[in-house]
Amino acid sequence: MKYIANLKMIASLLMMLAIAGSAAFAQQAVESPYKIKQVYVPEEKRPAVEYRMEQLPFKNAGGQLPTHEGENFQINISGQNVKAPDDAKRMVSTFLESLKSPLRVDKDIRLGINATTAKSDATYIDEQIRLGKQTTMERLKKEMKDVSTSSDNMLNELGNELKQQSNLTISIFRFDQYFEDIIIDNTAISINNRNQNEFVSLLGKFYNTVKPTNRKALSLKEATVKAMAQIRKENKLEELKATNKGEIVLLPYADGFKFTWKTEVSSDGPYQVWIDAETGKVLQLLPLFFFDRAKGLVFNPDPNSPTRELTFEVDAPAGGVYTLRLTGVLTLTNDGTDGTAGVVTVADDGSGTANFNVAPINGTTIERTSQAGYNGQFQQVNAFANISFERQIYMLLGSEVFPALTVSVNDNNPCGFGINNACSSMAFGIGGATTGNSVACSQLFNSAIDGTVIAHEFGHGLNGLQYGVGGGTITGSMNEGLADFWACTNFNTDIFGGWWAHNCPAPVQSGFVPRQAEATDIFPDRNSGGGSNQIHSAGQITAWAQWSSRQGMNDATSFGTLGINMNTIKAMTTAGVGILNDGSSKAIHDSNQDLLKQLAPLYQSSRLIHKLLAGYARAGIFLSPKDAIIDIDHSYLNRASAAGPVFTVWTGDDYTFAGNNVVTSGALPFNTQFQIELANDEAFAVNHITSAWLGGVASAAGGTATYTMPVADWNTLKAGTDIYYRVTTRDGAGGNSRSSVQPGNNFLGVDVPVGRAAINGTGTKDCSCSASASTSSSTMALVPLLPLVGLIVYRRRKTKKV
Ligand SMILES: [Zn+2]
Repeated sequence: MKYIANLKMIASLLMMLAIAGSAAFAQQAVESPYKIKQVYVPEEKRPAVEYRMEQLPFKNAGGQLPTHEGENFQINISGQNVKAPDDAKRMVSTFLESLKSPLRVDKDIRLGINATTAKSDATYIDEQIRLGKQTTMERLKKEMKDVSTSSDNMLNELGNELKQQSNLTISIFRFDQYFEDIIIDNTAISINNRNQNEFVSLLGKFYNTVKPTNRKALSLKEATVKAMAQIRKENKLEELKATNKGEIVLLPYADGFKFTWKTEVSSDGPYQVWIDAETGKVLQLLPLFFFDRAKGLVFNPDPNSPTRELTFEVDAPAGGVYTLRLTGVLTLTNDGTDGTAGVVTVADDGSGTANFNVAPINGTTIERTSQAGYNGQFQQVNAFANISFERQIYMLLGSEVFPALTVSVNDNNPCGFGINNACSSMAFGIGGATTGNSVACSQLFNSAIDGTVIAHEFGHGLNGLQYGVGGGTITGSMNEGLADFWACTNFNTDIFGGWWAHNCPAPVQSGFVPRQAEATDIFPDRNSGGGSNQIHSAGQITAWAQWSSRQGMNDATSFGTLGINMNTIKAMTTAGVGILNDGSSKAIHDSNQDLLKQLAPLYQSSRLIHKLLAGYARAGIFLSPKDAIIDIDHSYLNRASAAGPVFTVWTGDDYTFAGNNVVTSGALPFNTQFQIELANDEAFAVNHITSAWLGGVASAAGGTATYTMPVADWNTLKAGTDIYYRVTTRDGAGGNSRSSVQPGNNFLGVDVPVGRAAINGTGTKDCSCSASASTSSSTMALVPLLPLVGLIVYRRRKTKKV
């Protein structure tokens, strides 16, 4: 029970710090509250391979080939279609032969997954685009005197792009690698065909040479008995169950491969465990569940902030009564910790709607059970309604169909770690602050009342569902970071768990709650590797990359949120193939870069790709070590403004790797010089202005610099309707040139559209004018905040019988 003692000690440390008024919580080391400590494979040591893109017989191909055996790679080929398994087999054969690999399709490389992703709902998307255009125009009219037709044109262009993206489905052909008849763990080559797009990716990892370094001597049962004894001993654990279901796999291990029983055990939740088939030793052990807990500080969205009414489906009434339940979809259970028993029901009033938005169910006295008029039923409707709503939206955006889900609320020990937790198994702790009167940071409120916690846990379900389509590996930090992103994007807030942890006043960086997606969440700074707490902390890199992309897209159009949500759902289906999951800095980096590699092809014909790349660059994640990324501070410029826009440029990684560890000293990859080009037209023919080669690139979020358009250039360009922009970067010796038109060193194998900003206002004639001229064209317009949901409500439409 060592971990409990440690947690107690930390709680008291936190209290002491709180008393001292210190903000140093992030400095506290915290042990993983998983009952079983994770076991990671050692770093692989593999020989170098020398492949060149020119070896490949594909036209218009970009990307990166492996530089050593088993290294993750991705190439992208435009103008291609792979429609059937036989086409996919031919492409993989051609690929391997061109690299002179001895591996053969159907023998060493076998088709394992052949799936096509779900489709977005066209009617829903159309309506959202229409509303988004309208909202953007309204916003611009408040900001500028005259909104020009060029703004209208740009919005139409972006709307058409989004429409096209929404039509996209992805066909996935995943080929697993085998040695004799044994599958090699987490080793596959996938072909992803983006239907309607003629844009194919070929990615994953493979080993040309496979030599096992142990023997298959133990049966699954024999191996499991030995492994369980080891796990019990090392974790001082009594409660441990084996499933006795498993398969033998070949696990890439150090410089060899080990025959391994891959099975599951369970204690506080399920864990996947890889057991040496010769010795019974645990070689790798990873949790299959995620939990979220807090102790930190927060700030305080009012628990009584505006509620909203949501509609959702429940079963038809039985015996004149509606219950919060939709058979085959969502079942609610109430653990009753606050003394409230049973699942909420309402009488059928004959209207055809089950109205749960009635007293006393909708009473909002929910903070502490000791309050007069405390209402324990609200949490049930809150959890049920929010999950129903999010489930429906994700499926409209094109997620797979969710399996039936059971959700429990009002728990006193939801994840096995006490009352102040919530779990990806959809168990929501009621929190020690709600059942008691504590004001301590370590005591949380009811997790089922905070919509961001509900969205985070359900987000884990979405992540698993979508990564599962292509069989990719989702690392712990990616899973947490994306779950935070889903929490934030659903509620249009950059804070996760604010109400849950509102005993304390500020976001923390330690991995506890509340967490904020913010500009300091940069790789490798937020990356500590290792245990569960660290995965929450390192996950903030993902949350910030996604949130920052979303902000940029929303500056360009009010349907930016819709676009990033939809494309992330699609991108997850092809993500994670062959991605290492060992908690190392490299794994954290690679899993983030991998998601970007899946998103970029979806934006390859959209100008919003620059918002995507800039968002990830702000989090220190790039497609290639040297790059050229540019962003403008506002997509809509005001001709009446005296000053021109400001650009931010990123030039690549400000870190390297030594094995799986990150290095931030010595020579760093990022380019040190940049040159910006501007013009009034897409072809850079009208008023084409080229800056000098500029320096001043500093390590910040990657190599970063800013550039303010000189006033003389602004005066020339603002006479036009639009400004188009691009950047070229190079190293100190003038080599390694990179262009924003070919991001990631031509990763996509095709040029992307350049950046564009629309100019508004009627020019100098309408302005006499210093009084009305703003000093800058470019206040970053953020999305107006929607009312944060405190929660909710409940009207129910009767389920139609099918
Ligand atoms: Zn989580």
